[in-house]
Amino acid sequence: MKSDQLLFKNRRPGETTFLKGYLETGGYEGLKKAFTMDPAQVREIVKASRLRGRGGAGFPTGMKWSFFPADKPGEKYLVCNADEMEPGTYKDRELLLADPHQLVEGMIISAYALQAPTGYIFIRYAYERCARNLERAIIEAREAGFLGKNIRGSGFSCELFVHRSAGRYICGEETALLNALEGRRANPRSKPPFPAVRGLFDKPTTVNNVETLASIQHIITGGAAWFKDLAATVEGAGTKLYGLSGHLEKTECHELPIGVPLRTLVEEFGGGVWKGRRFKACLPGGASTPYLTAEHLDVSMDFEPLEKVGSRLGTAGVTVFDDTTCMVEATLNLNRFFARESCGWCTPCRDGLPFVNWILEKIERGDGVMEDIDMLRDQLRNITGTTFCALAQGAVGPIESLLRLFEEEVVDHIKRGRCPFNP
Ligand code: SF4
Repeated sequence: MKSDQLLFKNRRPGETTFLKGYLETGGYEGLKKAFTMDPAQVREIVKASRLRGRGGAGFPTGMKWSFFPADKPGEKYLVCNADEMEPGTYKDRELLLADPHQLVEGMIISAYALQAPTGYIFIRYAYERCARNLERAIIEAREAGFLGKNIRGSGFSCELFVHRSAGRYICGEETALLNALEGRRANPRSKPPFPAVRGLFDKPTTVNNVETLASIQHIITGGAAWFKDLAATVEGAGTKLYGLSGHLEKTECHELPIGVPLRTLVEEFGGGVWKGRRFKACLPGGASTPYLTAEHLDVSMDFEPLEKVGSRLGTAGVTVFDDTTCMVEATLNLNRFFARESCGWCTPCRDGLPFVNWILEKIERGDGVMEDIDMLRDQLRNITGTTFCALAQGAVGPIESLLRLFEEEVVDHIKRGRCPFNP
C-alpha cells in the first residue's frame, strides 16, 4: 500500500529538515494562504476537514476551536502538547526529529485562526533533540519573517516558546500540563471551567497535539475535501502516523491513510510477527487501549471501527505480542506504569491501581485464587467513572480486555499454580 506523505514527506533517516529544505518542498505556503483569509475562514476549513485530535482522545479539532473565544479581545494562548510519554507511542518524536518547521508553521496558522498570539510547546524532558530542533526552527522562522511582529504585513504578530516538562506522564493531561506550565504541581484541574474559558494564567487556551497542529498547513494548502479523501474509511479524514513496536520483524513509524487495516500494518509494514511466531494480541493505540486479538486483524485503524470492536485508536502506537507472551505479565507490566505515574489526587487511582498490581503479581507467581478474578472485576468497577482524570480510565483498558479476551489464561495460571509461559 502506498500513501500520500504529508507529515513525513521530508523524513530521511538520521536527518532533520530545517528551513532551506522546508521551503524547497512548499514550506510556509499554508501560512501565506491562511493570511489571505479571515481567521474565521481558516477555522471553518479546519472544521470542514473533519480532522480529529491525534493525541489520543480524538476530539474534532474544528469543534474544539469553535469553543474558543477567538473573536473576543484579550490575552489568549495556544499550547502544543508534545509531552509524549505513553509506552508504545513515539510518533510525535519521529515528526519532530524529521521536520520541526511543520509544527512551527501549523502553530502560527492555528494561532492566527484562534487570534491567540502566544504559543507554548510543552515537550517531554527526554525529547531534548526534538526541543533543540524546535528552538532552531523557531529562530529560523523569526529570521525569515514568519514569526514576530506583523508577520509578512498581515497585521498579525506571534511568538512561540519551547518549555521542557519536568517529566511525569500526568503532565500530558491537558489541565495538568497547564499547571505544570505555570510552575505549579501537575495535578489535573477541575472541569468546568474548560481551558477554552479559563486555561493558562486563567486566560482562554487551546491545547492541541503535535500531529494535529502539524496537519493544519496541509489542510489549508490542499483544502478540506482533499484532506478528507486521503482517508481509507468513509468516516475518516487525512493520514495518520502509526508507530509499530513489539514482536514484529520491523518496528517503525509510518504515515498511512487513517483507517488502514490492522492486518496491513502488521503483515506488510511490520513484516509479520517476528521469529515466525503467531500473532496473539496487540494494543492498537498505546498502553491505555484495550487489547485486540487475531480475530480483529481486519479492523480499520480509525476511531469508530476500533470502538465497535471494543478498543480505541488512541495514539495509534501499535504494540504487537506474539503467541509466547503471558498476557497476565504483559498487563501487570502496563499497570505498573500507570500505578507509578498516578498523581495521587484521587483514591480509586492512587490506591486502586497498586491493588490491581498486587492481585496480578499474585496470579503471575502462582499464588492466585479464583476469587482474585472477582476482586479484579470489583476494582475495575471502583475505578471506572470515579476518577478525576482519564489516567485511571486508560489503565483500566488492558485489564478489562485481559478479563474479556484472556480469562482462560488467567484461570490457567490459578489452576496450575504457576505461569504457563514462564515456568
Ligand atoms: Fe491523579 Fe489518577 Fe486521579 Fe488522574 S485519576 S487525578 S492521575 S489520581
